[in-house]
Amino acid sequence: MEVKYVPKIIEEKWQAIWAATKCFGASENAAGEKYYLLEMFPYPSGRIHMGHVRNYSIGDVIARFKRMKGFNVLHPMGWDAFGMPAENAAIQNKSHPASWTYENIDYMRNQLKKMGLSYDWDREIATCDVEYYKWEQLIFLQMYRKGLAYKKNSFVNWCPKCETVLANEQVEEGCCWRCDSEVALKELDQWFFRITDYAEELLDYTDRLPGWPERVLVMQRNWIGRSFGCEIDFPLEGRPGSVKVFTTRQDTLYGATFMSLAPEHPMALELTLPGQKEAVLAFIDKVKKTEKAKRTSEDLEKEGVFTGSCCLNPVTGRSMPVYLANFVLTDYGTGAVMAVPTHDQRDFEFARTYDLPLQVVIQPEGESLDPATMEAAFTAEGIMVNSGPFDGLKSCEAKEKIADLLEKNGNGKKTVNFRLRDWGISRQRYWGNPIPVINCDRCGVVPVPEKDLPVILPRDARFTGEGGNPLALVDDFVSVTCPECGKPARRETDTMDTFVQSSWYFLRYCCPDFTTGPIDRARAEYWMPVDQYIGGIEHAVLHLLYARFFTKVMRDLGYCAIDEPFTNLLTQGMVIKDGAKMSKSKGNVVDPDALIKKYGADTARLFSLFAAPPEKDLDWSDQGVEGSYRFLNRGWKLVHDTLPLIGNAGRPDAGALTDEGRTLRRVIHKTIRKVTEDLDERFHFNTAISAVMELVNTVLAFEPKNVTANAPVLREALESTVLLLAPFVPHVTAELWHALGHDEGIECAGWPTFDPAVAADEELLVVVQVNGKLRGKVTVPAAAGESEIKEAALADSRVRPYIEGQTVRKIIYVPGKLVNIVAG
Ligand SMILES: [Zn+2]
Ligand SMILES: [Zn+2]
Repeated sequence: MEVKYVPKIIEEKWQAIWAATKCFGASENAAGEKYYLLEMFPYPSGRIHMGHVRNYSIGDVIARFKRMKGFNVLHPMGWDAFGMPAENAAIQNKSHPASWTYENIDYMRNQLKKMGLSYDWDREIATCDVEYYKWEQLIFLQMYRKGLAYKKNSFVNWCPKCETVLANEQVEEGCCWRCDSEVALKELDQWFFRITDYAEELLDYTDRLPGWPERVLVMQRNWIGRSFGCEIDFPLEGRPGSVKVFTTRQDTLYGATFMSLAPEHPMALELTLPGQKEAVLAFIDKVKKTEKAKRTSEDLEKEGVFTGSCCLNPVTGRSMPVYLANFVLTDYGTGAVMAVPTHDQRDFEFARTYDLPLQVVIQPEGESLDPATMEAAFTAEGIMVNSGPFDGLKSCEAKEKIADLLEKNGNGKKTVNFRLRDWGISRQRYWGNPIPVINCDRCGVVPVPEKDLPVILPRDARFTGEGGNPLALVDDFVSVTCPECGKPARRETDTMDTFVQSSWYFLRYCCPDFTTGPIDRARAEYWMPVDQYIGGIEHAVLHLLYARFFTKVMRDLGYCAIDEPFTNLLTQGMVIKDGAKMSKSKGNVVDPDALIKKYGADTARLFSLFAAPPEKDLDWSDQGVEGSYRFLNRGWKLVHDTLPLIGNAGRPDAGALTDEGRTLRRVIHKTIRKVTEDLDERFHFNTAISAVMELVNTVLAFEPKNVTANAPVLREALESTVLLLAPFVPHVTAELWHALGHDEGIECAGWPTFDPAVAADEELLVVVQVNGKLRGKVTVPAAAGESEIKEAALADSRVRPYIEGQTVRKIIYVPGKLVNIVAG
């Protein structure tokens, strides 16, 4: 009787069984070494896309493989559920962000279940649930008490389209990371997390994450941007006080001829003399209207204004006019730049525009620069000139010495500076976690007392798209009594950046039912750190940096003694179709629902795992999908056709096998070894799947007349095939495992082990003689060449003592048999 492969029936059947038996539920008390496998949780945008299918299939292979290997696996799933799109959808559809979000979650959860992913659904988290975000409010208050959360007025990145602030990490080439609009600068009261307090540790630990891709570590190191330099005081001329500068080019100090301040510099107005006041104010006003991204661009026309004041070069005594310049920003260093036009291109352009003096202090070796004819700044290293006692030194050597001199004279000190800025977490939007503070005219910022938590996001806001943050218009929410003075006050209406929620969700998965705090320490310390994390490279300096920071903060707040959240990181490639990343706007999207409906989830999974290694981009191919489907059909038919012929055969007895049977056994065990190594060490899923395909072909080619004699080997072949494929295509293998007569589910079956003796009989044993006497034996691959075999003989530890101190005169090799080393 022909049994047809109908994915829909099989998949629904096994999904129902898995749900009913909760066989993927994780417990801290289960046997086996713990293994925490996590994929970055999705934003509930509406439907899953092929990128999700790929990401979660990769994770599921590892989770299922580790379970079969006997690990105690935690594999949770949840929703990064706050954020802008929900609010925009609510405005568009005249609905509510909460209903939009929860409907999407229901739909997407169903989609994920249809993929047969082995999640512990009892640990599901949605960050917009008050049960989740209330703990984040508590953490915020604890951070506030430690000075790690603070409010300040500052210039912030403002996305005019999203109508909210963006963190520096969320500005990409001057544009909003979400909507690509050009980002403007705006002055606002903002809440910040003091991530800069952790800059040093975040940087140092990048050297202790060998399980991370180097390029992600490099991006983080560059983002944190530590530089060693000098803080130099330039005394004001004719009055007390000084301008402080941070530089990493103190070797050019003797060439500093003027000073450039950011127009936002706190001393800008103080240094402006009355005669210059009008020009300076007009200039500041103009620069404020220029977007920050433009101000840092190379093609910016360098503009400035003289303040009327001068300062003194601390080593030359030269008087340096103080300018305000449009290209100097306050957020790096001190907001003041010692201008060295000969050795800095921006200063060079500025000096040419305003006719300021040039002094060469570094010469390229064997050349002589003339300031009058220079067409660009010389920024490389060279030989010091016009630099007093440092003339003739290499500029890189002078750096340290000039820093020493400044320290000795008391007008400077060596410093470490970071490019990293504090993380602005205020968002002027409704659909987020309310920042738990109250603003009182008398008492200032008053944290909400812990006993009054949670601050619940009120449901009854109106979403019109006008009038700014809808939360600010909810009277019941905003009007409160000040907890300190008892007088009327206003509740903070900024909500937290959604990246705050994703900074600790992996900790909450360890104990999602914990009711007395954010984290149950014992359980968190059992599961953490995440052994394998999987997600996109686009999070390299966003989520992956914030999550590292937050883990350290949680540690320092006493929640969990873990330094780093993710031991190993895999950044999967994109899904490409017709040469471009799949996206709605390009119209090249493949809908996973349609794919699963036509071929089944196993085919969707197999294709996305087989078409490319996880970290590479995956090129979509309809033929590839067809091919995966055909392979599953072939495997299905093979098991059902062969089973009646072999019956319930026992373990293979090597002595009773035919040559063909012995060859098949070797292929089986070599395949087990190959797939195990591919999964264990390097996630080479595509080559693992190819190996199983070859095994299937070997079985398909088996001579029918040999079947009965080799029944036990054929059973071994079928069972191994099914077990090896189980992590990739869990439904069809579960069904076939059952057909092969096993009552227990394949997800609990042990991973097959290979017998090295069976797998290794393609190796060659070669006898080694020294001067005709047997001294050792070496095993080499059968394919090894003569020189390899001779080398192995010379290197053998049993042979070495017999040739030590002697000259090897000749090595004779009798193919396949022996090596005779003639020495003396
Ligand atoms: Zn935007
Ligand atoms: Zn008050």
